[in-house]
Amino acid sequence: MAKQPKDLSDLFHETVKDIYFAERQILRALPKMAKNAQSPELAKAFETHRDETQVHIERLEQVFEIIGKSPRGKTCDAIVGILDEGKEIMEDFADTQALDPGMLAAAQAVEHYEISRYGTLKTWAIQLGHPDAAKLLDATLQEEIKTDKLLSQLATASVNRKAA
Ligand code: FE
Ligand code: FE
Repeated sequence: MAKQPKDLSDLFHETVKDIYFAERQILRALPKMAKNAQSPELAKAFETHRDETQVHIERLEQVFEIIGKSPRGKTCDAIVGILDEGKEIMEDFADTQALDPGMLAAAQAVEHYEISRYGTLKTWAIQLGHPDAAKLLDATLQEEIKTDKLLSQLATASVNRKAA
């Protein structure tokens, strides 16, 4: 039998695997970031988002179920690179005033990656006739957006404090 050409549902599945891998890496990174943060507000933001990330993973497992696939990740080089850069900042700027700003920037890069993925996946889920999956993906998307905004506020607040 001839091999079926790949289609949007294959791409959707591959991309869910990509973000599933990414979320599990993020879940491992956030406690280390919380521990290293100098500002208690930033530490708290990382801890809260760690708990949300646990839910993001569970929602993705529900999405796998909706499309009849078993939950499996696929190495996402993009998130590995972004998290490696964050690690490098934590090492290179340990015990400096630039540590928190560096971690804020690294964390926002992570959120922006997630926002891009979840926005795309939500659109594809609707196109593929999976409204329940779209709803799950949108719930996570909103939490990533909220986290990104919170990180922006923390960055602005700390800049204002230093300028005062
Ligand atoms: Fe997430
Ligand atoms: Fe996130």
